[in-house]
Amino acid sequence: MSKLKDYKAVNEPVLSYFKNSVERKNIEKEYENMFNSKTEIPLYIGSEKIFTEKRKDILPPHDHKNVVGTYSLADEGHVKSAIDNLLKNKTTWSETSWEERCNIFLKAADLISKKYRTKILASTMIGQSKNIFQAEIDAACELADFLRFNVEYLVEIYNEQPIDGPGKKNNLEYRPLEGFVYSVTPFNFTAIGANLCASAALMGNVVLWKPSDNQVLSAKITMDVFEEAGLPKGVINLVTGDPEMITNIALSHKEFSGLHFTGSTTIFRHLWKKIGENINTYRDYPRIVGETGGKDFIFCHPTADLEVSATAIIRGGFEYQGQKCSAASRIYLPRSISKELISNVVDQVKTIKMGSPIDFNNFMTAVIHEKAFERISNYIEYAKSSNDCEVLCGGGYNDSVGYFVEPTIILTSDHQFKTMREEIFGPVVTIFEYDDKDWKSMLDVLDSTSEYALTGAFISNDENSINYALNKLKYSAGNFYINDKPSGAVVGQQPFGGCRASGTDDKAGSKLNLLRWVSPRLVSRTENPPTSYPYEYMD
Ligand code: NAD
Repeated sequence: MSKLKDYKAVNEPVLSYFKNSVERKNIEKEYENMFNSKTEIPLYIGSEKIFTEKRKDILPPHDHKNVVGTYSLADEGHVKSAIDNLLKNKTTWSETSWEERCNIFLKAADLISKKYRTKILASTMIGQSKNIFQAEIDAACELADFLRFNVEYLVEIYNEQPIDGPGKKNNLEYRPLEGFVYSVTPFNFTAIGANLCASAALMGNVVLWKPSDNQVLSAKITMDVFEEAGLPKGVINLVTGDPEMITNIALSHKEFSGLHFTGSTTIFRHLWKKIGENINTYRDYPRIVGETGGKDFIFCHPTADLEVSATAIIRGGFEYQGQKCSAASRIYLPRSISKELISNVVDQVKTIKMGSPIDFNNFMTAVIHEKAFERISNYIEYAKSSNDCEVLCGGGYNDSVGYFVEPTIILTSDHQFKTMREEIFGPVVTIFEYDDKDWKSMLDVLDSTSEYALTGAFISNDENSINYALNKLKYSAGNFYINDKPSGAVVGQQPFGGCRASGTDDKAGSKLNLLRWVSPRLVSRTENPPTSYPYEYMD
């Protein structure tokens, strides 16, 4: 009997990186090494690593004049051959035993946790400007967790079988989808990039992976890990380049069977439309899974604890420069505590240090690229020029060395103010104060303010108010946190995903997500089949 049948995953421990610790020394060395060398990233098509002539530079967001490598740009021919190659390998992979598939990804998890830990962390710190803690919880822990928990969920899924009937043996065979899966992934989580292809591949699918241009450095390490773990070449093919061109080819292919997307709402809607336009081309109705934008809230009830609220606002709003889909960006405070709470938050935010991720004193580093820098600074300028708000702290930005934006807090008198409604995806938090007596009606306002429904937090010491909010805000967030920040989901503990404009709520890091990558076949075997058509009641 396979040991894997009883497999139970445990979360990867988060290392401390204290001064003088071994892990700290290792990461400093690896960072230095990677930062001062040039990593050349090919296209991964079957057993070939193709370094194209046309390439783009990889520039760390916190030091954008320093080229740390290049990545290859695919042309149409590359994308077509990547898909052809996947389809060639499809049968062999789908017929590989589930134990073998699981063992490959468990080995990949162990490589991430040990041999490749510093490499994947350094690549995430350099390429995506994460500080060491943010890199650790993403690229080491969350990624290893995804790979391990998915194995546990696969076992659970395969074990779910129908009952037998009188004289009938029934079996559900969890086939992979018939064609290929297309994974399009965002810049902000190394773990998401890896998981969006690994989850579908684990279930026996072949996957075309198009990572974000701003996550290629850690995507390359991910491919190295998969290769060393024994994943056969041509199960996951990676192509980088013009997203529109790559997507047009993938989504107009007859064998396209599923989209595994994480990114902005606008792009997801754009891809969904394309799939609709091509619906007559496909053999399957493609699975469409997308986790998208957020306008995540913290609502403080009049009984909320001051320190708990302040910490949730600061960590929730400014960790990773507010570039988490779950980042807190609209805050509702009761007037009875808002003055003291705001002054506490502002005083603390003024102590936040910002700079290179290799300086461990820095809580924040740079935002991802020039476009993000412009988008965020435009929101800040809009706020500065508006009569409906006041910028309480921050508001500065500078892109001379890296794309640095100060942690910014806006206080608005209009709960429908632009920055209360729209996803900014940067270190900008907007606060609205309400009269304590109106807390219930404010929940209605909160619910209807933004099109998103990803995460939210309710901070309160009154149980009745928590129950009321849980009910009132049933569809306002897919991940609802009580007395904490609205970010920081841990695989296996808080399956993640939102509804409304925030996605299809298929909960990454859960069995629900894996179910989207199988097409179950029911096989029913009759032991003594009937041999004539009349039924007994007809006698
Ligand atoms: P993005 O939408 O700009 O890019 C996502 C992916 O889509 C990238 O691979 C990109 O190259 C690709 N893409 C861009 N234009 C395309 C086009 N025209 N056709 C096809 N593909 C295209 O998002 P981003 O900036 O990388 O990530 C930030 C966004 O992702 C935010 O909106 C954030 O809320 C969201 N996000 C959501 C979750 C979640 O779980 N809900 C998690 C992480 C990020």
